[in-house]
Amino acid sequence: MTPIVLLASLAALIYAASYAIRCAISPWGRCRRCHGTGNRPALIGRRRDCPRCNGTGIRVRIGRRIAEHIRTEYRAGHQ
Ligand SMILES: [Zn+2]
Repeated sequence: MTPIVLLASLAALIYAASYAIRCAISPWGRCRRCHGTGNRPALIGRRRDCPRCNGTGIRVRIGRRIAEHIRTEYRAGHQ
């Protein structure tokens, strides 16, 4: 393995670890579609609530969802 590959895999590992920590500390992230405003700018007529976050402007991080899914599966298999 060349040092570049080793360095790249190390960087990916650090990124994954920091992402996991971020998911553990704050499971909520800003909604990407409405950028945390909760509103979806309508082309015609009034503004409406963002359909993705139901107007809250926040969403559960995908990493947190995966972690919860794994936990649920683990518990289901150990009963
Ligand atoms: Zn939204």
